[in-house]
Formats: sequence, C-alpha cells, structure tokens
Amino acid sequence: AAEEGFDPEEIESDLAAAGHGPLPVLAVVGRPNVGKSTLVNRILGRREAVVEDKPGVTRDRVTYEAEWAGRRFKVVDTGGWEQDVLGIDAAVAAQAEFAIEAADAVVFVVDAKVGATDTDEAVVKLLRRAGKPVVLCANKVDGPSGEADAAALWNLGLGEPHPVSSLHGRGTGDLLDAVLEALPEAPQQTFGGGLGGPRRIALIGRPNVGKSSLLNKVAGEERVVVNEIAGTTRDPVDELIELGGVTWKFVDTAGIRRRVHLQEGADYYASLRTAAALEKAEVAVVLIDASESISVQDTRIISMAVDAGRALVIAYNKWDTLDEERRYYLEREIERDLVQVQWAPRVNVSARTGRHMEKLVPAIETALEGWETRVPTGRLNAFLGEIVAAHPHPIRGGKQPRILFGTQAGVRPPRFVLFASGFLEAGYRRFVERRLREEFGFEGTPIHISVRVRE
Ligand code: GDP
Ligand code: GDP
Repeated sequence: AAEEGFDPEEIESDLAAAGHGPLPVLAVVGRPNVGKSTLVNRILGRREAVVEDKPGVTRDRVTYEAEWAGRRFKVVDTGGWEQDVLGIDAAVAAQAEFAIEAADAVVFVVDAKVGATDTDEAVVKLLRRAGKPVVLCANKVDGPSGEADAAALWNLGLGEPHPVSSLHGRGTGDLLDAVLEALPEAPQQTFGGGLGGPRRIALIGRPNVGKSSLLNKVAGEERVVVNEIAGTTRDPVDELIELGGVTWKFVDTAGIRRRVHLQEGADYYASLRTAAALEKAEVAVVLIDASESISVQDTRIISMAVDAGRALVIAYNKWDTLDEERRYYLEREIERDLVQVQWAPRVNVSARTGRHMEKLVPAIETALEGWETRVPTGRLNAFLGEIVAAHPHPIRGGKQPRILFGTQAGVRPPRFVLFASGFLEAGYRRFVERRLREEFGFEGTPIHISVRVRE
C-alpha cells in the first residue's frame, strides 16, 4: 500500500528539486538601507515548500536556499552583518570582500532615488577587481517615474541597471533572470576536487583559541604557500601542509597568521573570515580554548560550520593547562552546550606541547568519510520500514503519519528526502536522525532531512 500513488517520474523531479550537491552562491551587497533585506525576502518568498529540519545548534543564518525558474542557488544575506560598530564604509567593504571570496555572482544594490554615493563607487572598484559577475540592482524604483533614476546608474560602469522595487516586487523577475544568467551552473569553488586534489580544511575558532599556534605546529617546516591572491583587501592564502603522509589544503590562512589587532569590529571581521573560509572548505576544524568556559562565540562558530554543511571536527586546545577541576567542568559544559553536535569527532590537543597532534588527521578523515557516506536506497528503505514498524509516529488528530519511502538525495553532507503520508513532528524527525546515525555512522557530518508530504 505504501507504493500507492507513487509515480517514479514525480519522485525523480522531487529529488532534483531537493538538490544534489553544492549550489552556486549569490551575495547581495550594498550600503545600509538601500533595500538588501527587502530584496532577499522577495527572492526567498519564492522558496519551494519543503519542510526542512536541519539538525544543529541555534544559529544565525546568513545563507538561504532560493529557487527561480527551476534553478536553485544559495543567497548570502549580508544585511545582518552591519549591526556593528564599524563605520558604514568598512562594513560595506567587508561585504564586498566576502562576495569576492566566496560568492559566484553578486547583486549590487543601489538606492536609485539617492543615486550613486562615494561608498557605492568604492564598492564598484572592489567588485570590478574581483572579476565576479555583477548584476546591478537599481532599487526603490516603485513606478515608471523612477526609471530615469535607474538609467543614471549606467555611470557606475557595471552594465545595465535593473530597475526594481523590492518593496512591491516590480522588476524583480527580470532581475532574477539576469542573476540566473550570471550564476554558473555549479559553484566555482568546486567540490569536485574531493577526488584527486588536496582536501580543504578551514581552521576556525574565536580569537586567541590558538589557531595560529596550531597551524605553525602542524606546518613545521613543510609549509608551502601556494596561492596568494593579491589585490583583495584580505589576502586569503591557502597553504598546502603534509600531515600523516597526506597533503591537505588549509584555506584562508592569512587571517590566522597575521596577528591583526582590530579593537572595534574584531568579532565582525572574525565572523566574516569564518564564513568565507567555510565556503571554500570541505571540513571545519573548530578550535576551542579548553582552559576557558565554552562561550556563545564558540557555539556560534560551530553553528556556522553546521549550517554551511561542512564536515566537523572539534579540537579542545590548551589541554596542557587543564587541572582536574577544569576538566570536570569542561565535560559538563560540553554536555550542556554542545549536545547537538555530539556526532563530531573530538580531539584534546595542545598546540604548545604538541599533545595529540597525531589524532587530528584520523579525526578529519573520519569526518570526511561520514560526510561522503551514501546509503543505498534499498538498505535505507529496509531500515525505514523497521523504524515505522517498531516506532510508529504518534497519532495526532486521529491520524498517524507514516514514512512511506525515503532516499538519499545527496552527499557532502548527506541529504535525505523522506516521503510521508502526513506531517512528521520535529521530535520524530530528530528520532529518525538519531537512528540513522546509529545505523549508518555519519560521524562528523551534519545531515539534512527533508520531508515531503503525500496525501
Ligand atoms: P538594507 O539595510 O539594505 O537591508 O535595507 P532594508 O531592506 O532594511 O530597507 C531599508 C528601507 O528601505 C526600508 O524602510 C524598506 O522598506 C525600504 N525599501 C526597500 N526596498 C524598497 C523599494 O523598492 N521601494 C521603496 N520605496 N522602499 C524600499
Ligand atoms: P589565535 O588568535 O586563535 O590564532 O591564537 P594564537 O595561536 O595566537 O594563541 C593565543 C595565545 O594562546 C598565545 O599566547 C599562544 O601562545 C597561546 N596558546 C596557543 N595554544 C596553546 C596551548 O596549547 N597551550 C597553551 N598553554 N597556550 C597556548
């Protein structure tokens, strides 16, 4: 009976919609108040109606999935990055840096009613240098009388200004068509390099946890700087480092090595750097200073890695400084604050003494393995059948939703699509995730579960 009403072609198209593999990234940048958030909300208003349950810790999302004309992509909302002590110019430049680094295409939003300001001109310079495709959005053109304001933005030299009213929706369709033309089919920062090229590691963590000490320790003398992109304000540097007989690429290490002491806005820059490094990496090694209490900043960084869908290893550093008492409290803090990522391999290290450095690589390998695990459909459905029989969903309003069929739609990280006869409660979805992990491993990787309801 479970098979009833299943059209294989329909399932195929559902799977296509659920997405395989990584999506190209669109960044929306511009000065405060030009309407970026309004535009992003417009774009997301057209999201597909998939019930998503992304496991993970509480998060501040900056990346969303969007769809237009049947194509899916990620939108990075840089609007929220502004509520900071940085001056406007610095905040906008930082967004542009992110776009340069991590995005495949950029929508540059200008307030057409105000016209191009000096700040806008400065961003144009940065974007030009980056060479990423830019779509110019002349926003706040709410009616035909604003068209002339939009046309004035040809002066920016970014090509055709697209007159848009993000508030009312006018012109957004044409803008999105232009976006699709600008976006590559697959991300430029390809994940294809998984086979062959060195695996990419983002070493992240809040300031002073010991990132630069750890990098120096593992690099020793073997360090080779392979790729220096000059001219961007942030000089990202990827380094090839041999560990355990394998060459790894540590991405975006310049920010780690340069001991910048930005007082104001240091957190802001740190989180931008983290986001950019995560976009480029396959696996995140999050460093935590075990000598101090786990902080909100630590859990935020872990959330960013989970949210970005990267494999995850948690390294507790400065282990050399821990006494009995601190060790006791650390375990309690981990139980309390990091329970949602207990699937992540853990290493207790000291960048100073070199303690347990040799455990880092096996942990990274384990996480990458979980990240790439694919469960054959037959095995998955045998397992789902057992779950449904042994632990049926609670009856709600006289009905009992059942999982009918499931398939793994993708890897890196694993994505599952479950077809169900009714809405599955969050608690039940968490239960399914827990059982999936028990059965198939998935150590060190977030997993996505989408539920599609079939009447
Ligand atoms: P952000 O700071 O760039 O993210 O800008 P917001 O999206 O928060 O918008 C700033 C202000 O501009 C808000 O009051 C919006 O309602 C307004 N706004 C945004 N888009 C439009 C538009 O197309 N037309 C008009 N008239 N106002 C808009
Ligand atoms: P980053 O800001 O994350 O790159 O941190 P650093 O590598 O600059 O380290 C911050 C401080 O912590 C420095 O004074 C380091 O010497 C110290 N530190 C780093 N790792 C360890 C460690 O394993 N043990 C101890 N005792 N100190 C460490």
